[in-house]
Amino acid sequence: MTPAELRAMLERRGAMLAGHFVLSSGLHSDRFIQKFRIFEDPTTAEAVGAALADLLRPAKPDVIVTAAVGGIIPGFVVAKALGVRNMFVEKVDGLPRLRRGFTVAPGERVAVVEDVMTTGKSVGEVIDVVREAGGDVVAIGAVVKRGAVDLPLPVSALLDLPLADYAPEDCPQCRAGVPLEDPGSRRSI
Ligand SMILES: [Zn+2]
Repeated sequence: MTPAELRAMLERRGAMLAGHFVLSSGLHSDRFIQKFRIFEDPTTAEAVGAALADLLRPAKPDVIVTAAVGGIIPGFVVAKALGVRNMFVEKVDGLPRLRRGFTVAPGERVAVVEDVMTTGKSVGEVIDVVREAGGDVVAIGAVVKRGAVDLPLPVSALLDLPLADYAPEDCPQCRAGVPLEDPGSRRSI
């Protein structure tokens, strides 16, 4: 799947929204990628997972680790394509942890996968958890990278799509008095 094919598919499936949104990073934007429009269809999800797996395969990961909840399905489809384990980090009392019997063995090769990456903050938290467990983070994969990230490894993204994201105090729509919207109720573009 080429970047152009992925972008066309996101648009075709109504995943690209226009409006005034708060991203999970806290930044504001006039674009929102409703990624579950692609992950709701298992065949499409598996095709995306296989394409991202192709980018990560050279790093020879033993396990895929993601951040719950958004990363669980992307992690599953990538891990399935690579034939490796899939696990996720979740917050307990605000702190990211591996639970549910998930363990990373010391020295295991880990690829951290994200669906839509804006600042990379949640991926950074997953990396910290993996390293604390003794795992070796060998790759970072994203379905879409929409912003500049500051992470210890380069990001392998299926689609690099820089979008205009703003701190709330710099947001032109906030300045213009445009109310924030719920992406769940928005039309696609
Ligand atoms: Zn705003």
